Amino acid sequence: PVDRSPEVQEARLKLPVLAEEQVIMEAVRENPSIVICGETGSGKTTQVPQFLYEAGYASGGRMIGITEPRRVAAVSMSHRVAKEMNLPTQVVSYQIRYEGNVTSDTKIKFMTDGVLLKEIQKDFLLQKYSAIIIDEAHERSVYTDILIGLLSRIVPLRNKKGMPMKLLIMSATLRVEDFTENQRLFRTPPPVIKVDARQFPVTIHFNKRTPLEDYTGEAFHKTCKIHRMLPPGGILVFLTGQAEVHSLCRRLRKFCIQLKMRKPNRRRLLEAGIGDEEDGDSDLDLGDDPADAEEKADASIPLYVLPLYSLLAPEQQAKVFRPPPPGTRLCVIATNVAETSLTIPGIKYVVDCGRVKKRFYDKVTGVSSFKVTWTSQASANQRAGRAGRTEPGHCYRLYSSAVFGDFALFSEAEITRRPVEDLVLQMKDLNIEKVVNFPFPTPPSTEVLVAAEQLLVSLGALEEPPCTGRLKDMQRAKLSCPITPLGRAMASFPVAPRYAKMLALGKQQDCLPYVIAVVAAMTVREIFEDLDRPARSEDESSKLNQRRARLTQMRRLWAGQGASLLLGDLMIMLGAVGACEFAGCTPRFCENSGLRYKAMVEIRKLRGQLTNAVNAVCPEVGVFVDPKMTPPTEHQVVCLRQIVLAGLGDHLARRAQGEDLVDPKWKNAYKTPLMDEPVFIHPNSALFKTLPEFVVYQEVMETSKMYMRGVSAVEAEWVP
Ligand code: ADP
Ligand code: MG
Repeated sequence: PVDRSPEVQEARLKLPVLAEEQVIMEAVRENPSIVICGETGSGKTTQVPQFLYEAGYASGGRMIGITEPRRVAAVSMSHRVAKEMNLPTQVVSYQIRYEGNVTSDTKIKFMTDGVLLKEIQKDFLLQKYSAIIIDEAHERSVYTDILIGLLSRIVPLRNKKGMPMKLLIMSATLRVEDFTENQRLFRTPPPVIKVDARQFPVTIHFNKRTPLEDYTGEAFHKTCKIHRMLPPGGILVFLTGQAEVHSLCRRLRKFCIQLKMRKPNRRRLLEAGIGDEEDGDSDLDLGDDPADAEEKADASIPLYVLPLYSLLAPEQQAKVFRPPPPGTRLCVIATNVAETSLTIPGIKYVVDCGRVKKRFYDKVTGVSSFKVTWTSQASANQRAGRAGRTEPGHCYRLYSSAVFGDFALFSEAEITRRPVEDLVLQMKDLNIEKVVNFPFPTPPSTEVLVAAEQLLVSLGALEEPPCTGRLKDMQRAKLSCPITPLGRAMASFPVAPRYAKMLALGKQQDCLPYVIAVVAAMTVREIFEDLDRPARSEDESSKLNQRRARLTQMRRLWAGQGASLLLGDLMIMLGAVGACEFAGCTPRFCENSGLRYKAMVEIRKLRGQLTNAVNAVCPEVGVFVDPKMTPPTEHQVVCLRQIVLAGLGDHLARRAQGEDLVDPKWKNAYKTPLMDEPVFIHPNSALFKTLPEFVVYQEVMETSKMYMRGVSAVEAEWVP
């Protein structure tokens, strides 16, 4: 029996999914796997785990597990469900990459999909669980796809062993054929239960023209206008990334509403506990709208502006769920997170920029780039739907209906857009030898799978395929190489295979602590602050210049001298990590040195995690995280460069020479085996002035040019 408060009871009754409780639970009882489709906000994530709990699925020492593609959702949903059920967080808990509050009493466990994949590696039958819910399956994240493939095999196995487990796949859209009509996945298609959402009509307003560049500016004007002219109701703005979100928040706080506080409002706000004046980045700026005094606007109502994106601290994220302070209008500036995984109460207006930021990889060259592209029609409709949860709403699309007509109908599954060597290694470690036969909901191309196996063979993680027999046999052999003991060790490190290889080699010359620090830094994206952004004011410009100069100075310091210089950008990373740790990893130190505080905190956690993982594989090395790590010796630097080459051997580049230099486009350029185009060392790189003959790089990122990132020099005699 669950003891819910009267308010929770009342709120639950309004959720459409509650009306389907019996249907859902009957389907669960009668089928090993089911699919539940329902609009965002219909109550799937918060209620279905409770249905299972009340039906006894958390008894007998087994748990109910729920996976989320995003950390935000795993944390906030576990808190919400604990609160609804009036249970402590020891019982309704979460586990994300580096943290969690799971105990031996945990009955309902929210986790990221990556966490469950790791658990399958430890116990393929997932015996701790009686039911697994795969949430947000429509997002088609890589891990979600793989989990569904694995669970389609685990569920029948559990049944056969007489300890049945249930699988529930939950999706916000009706497009679930990739799961249900996929004979390789489920021989008997699982039943699909549709939850009718009580959705209010949303009026869609298209722009006449489509701003091609400044959609953030357009979003700003639209938001101000809504606030000035339209009746009460929360505003939700969709942008593409964290930087845009912050810039719009700042602009809205600054310009849309002047800092002239009205006394009664201020008092009320202070009473509500949010008039915090010390917090420089306060959520609230109050006063009148200066833009147009004539508009019959209720400008006395302040706008309560909140950012929302994946990497935002949980306490900050939680603010969007609380009612805004009395007498204010809620305005959330969000990335894609708000599209389906989180439901923000009280939204009546949606402003949609129509874009999404995605990472793109070139299948052949591995070149990656972040690009802002148009979203899909399905996503745009999801976004619009956020406006009609509590009453009829409006969605303002900052693009024309013609542009909308050209959007793809649905977004592609992530697995078709990225390299898969990490997944292939994980699968081999699960003894899935023939990865091509794996029941992927959407299979990656054979070309991509072959590339992954080839890389893993070259890293020594998989056995060399026999090169005898007919061509067809050889092709087949290429796709079913068994894992080696080295491969197993690599699979236990939670980083990409190239970096895992470096960790596996790190024992030499006491290099492990350095390898761990470098690998952690390479795994966490963007450790330096982005100071190359254009400044918006003269004041900002001079500040930016100062900080750039400071960062350049720090980079030079961290790059070291003499032999260290040849480790290049990786030496800078090592120096930055060492210095930051020495200073206690404080926000202040990061700010002063041009480091991204969040990234440094993540590196710190990852260092701890990698250190444990290395000790688990190789207890005799007894490596530990030393906060006072001394710089590597000359000898160690040479060793580190060789270890880096062993991991990044397929990312070798040689300075252009000979006849190439006739063409000016090859000036100071490098040649790589896979690309016809020249690639370059970035001006920020430690090796920009040296331009060694051979280098290895972490990745090539296409921005204004093809730039290598994470460059380290290689001696000519090491090149195979
Ligand atoms: P779905 O998974 O179908 O999108 P959810 O179960 O996430 O739906 O949400 C159901 C309802 O619970 C929504 O109306 C949402 O507003 C509310 N809700 C979810 N999380 C919170 C929270 N942390 N605080 C308050 N309300 C919440
Ligand atoms: Mg949900």
